[in-house]
Amino acid sequence: MTRRLGSGTLVIATHNAGKLKEISALLEPYGVKCISAGSLGLPEPAETGTTFVQNALIKAQAAAQASGLAALADDSGLSVDALGGRPGVYTADWAQRQWFEGAPGRDWYMAMGKVEGMLQELGPETGRSAAFHCVLAIAWPDGEHAVYEGRCEGTLTWPPRGKLGFGYDPVFVPTGGEQTFAEIDPDEKHRISHRADAFAKLVSEQFG
Ligand code: IMP
Repeated sequence: MTRRLGSGTLVIATHNAGKLKEISALLEPYGVKCISAGSLGLPEPAETGTTFVQNALIKAQAAAQASGLAALADDSGLSVDALGGRPGVYTADWAQRQWFEGAPGRDWYMAMGKVEGMLQELGPETGRSAAFHCVLAIAWPDGEHAVYEGRCEGTLTWPPRGKLGFGYDPVFVPTGGEQTFAEIDPDEKHRISHRADAFAKLVSEQFG
């Protein structure tokens, strides 16, 4: 039987204010008060895992140990079937500019181009199926944990289309649609996304 959160304080293992706001709004109806690991001054652990589950657990367990409270972390990314699941846990890293590529920071157009270049190198018959993954991990200070995996299947298109969303959204067309994640209404994206899928599973088991 999975342990349940109940109402109370939950540490969100993120230093990203946007993620804290989004997750707080989703859990507020269940009486959960969210505070971020950043506001508690907790250090960010290195994401040394090779799977989304491992990285989400590393972040949640580090925050639970350091705070003495239950903690929630997420890890997400894009897996391209023809590339053996890459970029996977390295989704954000593929956007990282190198010193010889100009100012430091992330360049999502470069990352999308890298994926596309690899697909084109494999030839025109290569499949373009891909999926966004989101893993939510809850960890308690005594080591107990629960994991929820969400996914959203789709295909990759080229060139990128749309100005909404972020990351790889402009090249991802969810199954059953024609528009990219960067073209569809954000409310619609939030209804069908990998994150929505993982949250639905968490809410159903934790608060259902
Ligand atoms: P992290 O889970 O914050 O480490 O994010 C991993 C990376 O996956 C992000 O930086 C994005 O590039 C990518 N990613 C995750 N979810 C989405 C999404 O909904 N749209 C586009 N890119 C995403």
